[in-house]
Amino acid sequence: MSNDKTLVMKFGGTSVGSSEAMSQVVKIVTGERANFGRIVVVASAFSGVTDLLLKSASQAAQGETQALQTAANTFVERHYAVLNALVKNHALVETVKQDINQLVFQFINLCQAISILGEASPRALDAVVSIGERMSVRVIAAAIESAGSPAQAVEATRLIVTDSDYQSAHPDMAATTEQTRRVLNPLLKEGIVPVVTGFIAANPQGVTTTLGRGGSDYSAGILGAALPADEVWIWSDVDGILTTDPRIVPEARSIPELSYREISELAFYGAKVLHPMTIRPVIEAGISLRLCNTFNPEHPGTRLVKAEGKSNNGVIKAVTAVQKICMLTVEGRGMLGVPGVAARIFSTVAKTGTSVPLITQASSEQSVCFAIPIVASDMIVNALEKTFAQELVNRDIDRIWASEEATIITVVGAGMIKTPGVAGRVFSALGNAGVNIVAIAQGSSEVSISLVTDAASTRTALSVINSLIEQ
Ligand code: ADP
Ligand code: ASP
Ligand code: MG
Repeated sequence: MSNDKTLVMKFGGTSVGSSEAMSQVVKIVTGERANFGRIVVVASAFSGVTDLLLKSASQAAQGETQALQTAANTFVERHYAVLNALVKNHALVETVKQDINQLVFQFINLCQAISILGEASPRALDAVVSIGERMSVRVIAAAIESAGSPAQAVEATRLIVTDSDYQSAHPDMAATTEQTRRVLNPLLKEGIVPVVTGFIAANPQGVTTTLGRGGSDYSAGILGAALPADEVWIWSDVDGILTTDPRIVPEARSIPELSYREISELAFYGAKVLHPMTIRPVIEAGISLRLCNTFNPEHPGTRLVKAEGKSNNGVIKAVTAVQKICMLTVEGRGMLGVPGVAARIFSTVAKTGTSVPLITQASSEQSVCFAIPIVASDMIVNALEKTFAQELVNRDIDRIWASEEATIITVVGAGMIKTPGVAGRVFSALGNAGVNIVAIAQGSSEVSISLVTDAASTRTALSVINSLIEQ
């Protein structure tokens, strides 16, 4: 029975990497046609393809083009293999193979242009990396079509309008809403399933942009809000959002429900399962969001709920890790009297293009301490030494220094801040396990507490806190 309900389903790279995975995707999409009259699929590049595209482009920028043909062959083989396994119609297989060949040809041409220039600009990188999703959606649409549901590949460059901030562009929701409805509604009316490229978009001049790594989740949120959809489901390879990172702590368990604020905090502080921006358009449009497992579709996964406090599993709900950071400290007794030091520190850091996930300030105002990605530490120390050259000479600032590699551990749960003793339990459990805590910060959103440990303690810290989470 068909109806007017609209469902946006996003399938990540882990769900579209192989013929086996893809046949699951086809089964899920065709199965939901009984429940939703309008279905839009958003898809990522096949697993590993985005990384290989970016690696090829940066090698090309160094003048290394020997590996281009091998990468091109990999792209052709992987997409052909899924087509051959899942698409029965010979003419359709041939058409899509032609499309793949053309896209791979474009990939080689773009990388050769990059190698001649000796430089890969952010704009050029977006052009190269977009090819992954553009190949993927053609194969997925053909596979769905072959299973008996009309489907059509659609490039999100026709739907999502962004600024020109290449590699992490921001959508213009008004323009996006207009274009999305204009392009997708006629297809949906005819019962066709649009299979849209995740991750990519275009600026108002039509130049390809991307939404940042992992951005296909965000694409699904944007398109869900634009249509608008009744539901957005994010399909991955785990049973929704888990209590902690399963790659580090295998005992991680699925969380049935999370509030908007909890889920945003988790995504921001490293739960890779969801791109942190996804939530915003979804909340604003009041759409329901679900995360589920392509390889275990019967499992309910995680649902996003409006109300907080309906906690199924105690006050601590989850714990995440942001790894490979370090703490940067600016200290000096003279800082006390110098106005605007913090503003100058953070504007210097912002100019380097780095975002700061955590800040702590000693109450004496004699030091400011904050987290940055460890890869950026030399660059930022140098930039700050330039900004404060005069203060360093005057000894108003004594030292600007970066710590050893560390990890931000974030404990998330809406009831946590208001429940006495929770922080105490976390800290004593960590203390008993011998975890050394370098810094502490309470999330301004009031649903999280973050602490910084040395890198070697990451696994122990996650596993100790995970074991405090009630079933
Ligand atoms: P996709 O390709 O589907 O977008 P990602 O690799 O981006 O998938 O995200 C899914 C992965 O996120 C999982 O395989 C899991 O290893 C990792 N992950 C990290 N933290 C969490 C968490 N708290 N809950 C679930 N998955 C997590
Ligand atoms: N393919 C892109 C990436 O690997 C986007 C995504 O998968 O969400 O980052
Ligand atoms: Mg992802």
